[in-house]
Amino acid sequence: MIATESKVELVSFYINGVWEKPSGHTTQSVTNPATGAVLAEAPFAEKADIDRAVRAAHEAFLKWREVPVVDRVQPLYRYKTLLERHATELAAILTRENGKTADDSKAEVRRAIQMVEVACGMPSLMLGDSLNDVAQGIDCKTIRQPIGVCAGITPFNFPAMVPMWMHPFAIACGNAFILKPSEKVPLTPTRAIELLHDAGLPPGVINLVHGGKEAVDALLHHPLVKAVSFVGSTPVAKYIYTTAAAEGKRVQALGGAKNHLVVMPDADMPKTVEAIIGSAFGAAGERCLAGSVLVTVGDAAAPLLDLLVKRTRSLAVGDGSAAGVEMGPLVTSDHCRRVEGYVEKGVAEGATPLVDGRQAKKTGGGFFLGPTIFDHVTPQMTIAREEIFGPVLSVIRVNTLDEAIQLVNQSPYGNATAIFTASGKAAREYSSRIEVGMVGVNVGVAAPLAFFPFAGWKNSFFGDLHAHGKDAVAFYTEQKVIMSRWF
Ligand code: NAD
Repeated sequence: MIATESKVELVSFYINGVWEKPSGHTTQSVTNPATGAVLAEAPFAEKADIDRAVRAAHEAFLKWREVPVVDRVQPLYRYKTLLERHATELAAILTRENGKTADDSKAEVRRAIQMVEVACGMPSLMLGDSLNDVAQGIDCKTIRQPIGVCAGITPFNFPAMVPMWMHPFAIACGNAFILKPSEKVPLTPTRAIELLHDAGLPPGVINLVHGGKEAVDALLHHPLVKAVSFVGSTPVAKYIYTTAAAEGKRVQALGGAKNHLVVMPDADMPKTVEAIIGSAFGAAGERCLAGSVLVTVGDAAAPLLDLLVKRTRSLAVGDGSAAGVEMGPLVTSDHCRRVEGYVEKGVAEGATPLVDGRQAKKTGGGFFLGPTIFDHVTPQMTIAREEIFGPVLSVIRVNTLDEAIQLVNQSPYGNATAIFTASGKAAREYSSRIEVGMVGVNVGVAAPLAFFPFAGWKNSFFGDLHAHGKDAVAFYTEQKVIMSRWF
């Protein structure tokens, strides 16, 4: 089903247990960012396709919710086994369409599998509360019931993992699900849903459609869609949240980021440098958890930047599928140009480039930009304020931890942050006063873990229940209180 570079195939929809090749639809090319080669064509679902998928999902839901939860998780156990068996294949597809390195792709697939593992525990996770004799002879309990058809709309940067933040939990809770992944990277989710099909899920419980705004709008306005999970950029997250909420739907919309890494003078500099490299330049900076602003406190700047610049210059940039490559290309040529535009803006606004990624050797027809570090950035500069989503790190120097906290808290985003220090007191103060959803202490990427909830604050998240962990169970179920007395 997955196209090779020599044979370009149309990607299929998966509706009601059937793989469909839509005809006469608008399509968009899926490219290999390392070479520019076209891998496949992604069809754009129209309103009628979405209506068909939602109706099929609703019919499936009416039966699926009657299946005991211990039986509902059995296909997920089989899915986990299939994902393990095909992990290398999935990672290779991921690298081919997204560009991240082979190691990064394998790590993403591992985290995706962990989501399925946690969802397999749904019989325990869905337990309610009970209290006997709330009044004489009256007992009370809560139960959790599925809500219906749920939709998931996902971004290009984690095509294996982010869909798994959603559908394994939704399905295990007894819902039916429609996934609309990013049109830039439809091949990884397609292969993953093929495996879920093989795991023996009843037709209609999981459905896969591709496309853009028309498909998303049809989901947001469809009366049978009860809940919408979104991960992507802030403007779209806000749009999804306001539109779906106005339709009376439950929404969780995870948005963009501008993450600060704070380094205290007492930090372990060599280890901190490795963590910063991974955070700022891992996945070419195309992570919502990527460190984008490096805040040096007091005397930290000189020893840190000396090591950091040397290590950044030594980073191996190239085709993510090649051995030894540490940073791959950006996802599309448009995105690469956009990130290059930020580098130009940094120079124009007076920041000092310590490493200029535009000088990196361009290979083949790929969308490459080397890692870039700007020093003497001010909080007012565009590169300090806007999400770049590329390998560009801006250094802002401050004198005290207090100043660092104020600077970070002024950001309209609040997705992730980290502090590097040997002081428990500084770490504790930072973690407690910072207005950010995910905090790393000597950890550059406070990564999503299946058994914990995950989301940012402020403009990085619209909603209340976060992704995966126990929050996913609450999001994908409705609570009911049953009070009983027997005469
Ligand atoms: P995007 O917002 O462009 O697209 C995300 C999804 O929304 C895609 O499926 C796309 O088809 C759809 N979409 C795009 N424009 C739309 C519109 N106008 N109306 C309706 N739907 C629309 O995001 P992206 O470029 O794919 O991903 C990168 C962004 O995602 C970054 O901002 C990054 O920070 C964010 N992200 C956030 C998290 C998180 O956990 N907070 C995780 C991963 C990525």
